[in-house]
Amino acid sequence: MNNQKEYHIRRSQRARRARIVVTADKVEVVVPLRMPEKQIQQFMRAKQSWIDAAKNKVQQHVDNIASFAPESYQHGALIPYLGKQYRLQIKVSQEKRIKIALEQDFIAYVPETLKGSALNEQVRIALLSWMGQAAAEQARTTMEHYAPLYQLSPRSIVIKTQKSRWGSCGIHNDIHLNWLLILAPAEVFEYVVIHELCHIEQRNHSAAFWALVARHCPDYKQRRLWLKQNGASLMLGL
Ligand SMILES: [Zn+2]
Repeated sequence: MNNQKEYHIRRSQRARRARIVVTADKVEVVVPLRMPEKQIQQFMRAKQSWIDAAKNKVQQHVDNIASFAPESYQHGALIPYLGKQYRLQIKVSQEKRIKIALEQDFIAYVPETLKGSALNEQVRIALLSWMGQAAAEQARTTMEHYAPLYQLSPRSIVIKTQKSRWGSCGIHNDIHLNWLLILAPAEVFEYVVIHELCHIEQRNHSAAFWALVARHCPDYKQRRLWLKQNGASLMLGL
């Protein structure tokens, strides 16, 4: 018997009947705890054309999200940083490891021995690491500006790689920020810092919270809108 499945089964206490969830990377069927495997297979067979249509729709959506990342990290590629695009220059150097510098352009100083796809990938990794440091630096200076204005200060600020959020503020006021924000315009980065900072005082998204945000960031709605419109692209990363 061919038992190869193209979907994932999730049994749920709350499910009264089977339902199918199609996302970019998987097809999942959520079923009641005791639903027999055979019945699930029948259900999935009956729904096959619906599933195909849903997969197409999701794929179209994914294809329409334009990444901020260049197609490759070759000389001349465009690199996003703080809402602008910078050219990438590759320069061969005596260094043993890749060094990144930002002048008018991004310059990657690369060892002579690195070539082809390895070069491409190593430049990407070096840029990621540079961006992480830039994000930490940007977070620090933004916080130094706004913490006194709000008279609120976090216990720590940590730059993280997060797949679905831009920032968070824990119960002990440790603020986490997604490093990808360094690719967004500086005002957007600033807005997320302010947003998390304000959660130290207001641990919700009430009217009082937004009023607090607006106190030193009156155009926060515009900045938040940028994230809503470009967030999915940004999350694709570099
Ligand atoms: Zn929030």
